[in-house]
Amino acid sequence: MESNKSSSEFFFYEAALVKKTEPFRNCTNIVVGKGNLNADILFVGEAPGRNEDEQGVPFCGAAGKNLDKLLANVGLSLDDVYVANILKCRPPENRDPLPDEIRAHTPWLLKQIREMKPKVICSLGNYATKFFLAGGNVDRMGEQNGITQVHGKIRDVEIEDLKFKLIPLFHPAAIIYKRALIDDWEKDMEIVKNEIFNNRGLGIGD
Ligand code: URA
Repeated sequence: MESNKSSSEFFFYEAALVKKTEPFRNCTNIVVGKGNLNADILFVGEAPGRNEDEQGVPFCGAAGKNLDKLLANVGLSLDDVYVANILKCRPPENRDPLPDEIRAHTPWLLKQIREMKPKVICSLGNYATKFFLAGGNVDRMGEQNGITQVHGKIRDVEIEDLKFKLIPLFHPAAIIYKRALIDDWEKDMEIVKNEIFNNRGLGIGD
């Protein structure tokens, strides 16, 4: 497959910010998202890994296989969610994202949120959770509680002109084969489903 890095689809301001960073220079593909852009739920992970970088698709490696399984266990599929990441490109050697990289890559994520208008955002793991809990202020990410404290708790988040419900979830890669955490994930997803259902109304007159 040809790399999408020079695609004319990515000639906009937020993409230009991403293109100035080291992960862009080192990656094979930009990884934008997958799933249903009309869904009520947006999942946000950390950054593409090796498989995601090679294929240009988020969550297509081991973490993605687990995510598919977890979704199926709660009666959902990629038709019910859209999946994106904090970073649009794989950091060299899968190292942790740097603060300046989060600053440069998240305007594109916020643009996706603005266009998609999800009812609920589920941050997967610590990076995405701390970014949202900090209201998008990267300098404040370090002060935020970790995923173990905040998973399954509903928060109202405002970033720039955006307002949405955040429900943090454990990262699918962190809970592979961990029965207790898988149970937590499934319970947390019931909270997500309730939130969507309660706000959907009866549909009369829609
Ligand atoms: N882990 C992530 O956070 N995102 C991916 O796309 C793959 C693995």
